[in-house]
Amino acid sequence: MEYPSFRKPFGEDIKGVFDSLDDVLKYVDGKRCFCGYKFNLTIGIELGMYKHPGGWLVKSLNEVLWLYVNCPNCGSQVALWKLRKGD
Ligand SMILES: [Zn+2]
Repeated sequence: MEYPSFRKPFGEDIKGVFDSLDDVLKYVDGKRCFCGYKFNLTIGIELGMYKHPGGWLVKSLNEVLWLYVNCPNCGSQVALWKLRKGD
């Protein structure tokens, strides 16, 4: 999955681009927390976000957001970039 580059006016690179929050959830689906829990969109994924210039551009919201998920197994808030590939 390749994303176009996008640079904030003051030089802080964003981490990536998503079309929508649905796209974010699809990205998380099947990935793992560091505790081993596998996120599953069918069970439900609790997504959190706040405005942050070093986060991800969500085109449908026209906002750059820090995105994280709450892990129901270990209780951690895991930033998107820390998610591990599922198997
Ligand atoms: Zn966890």
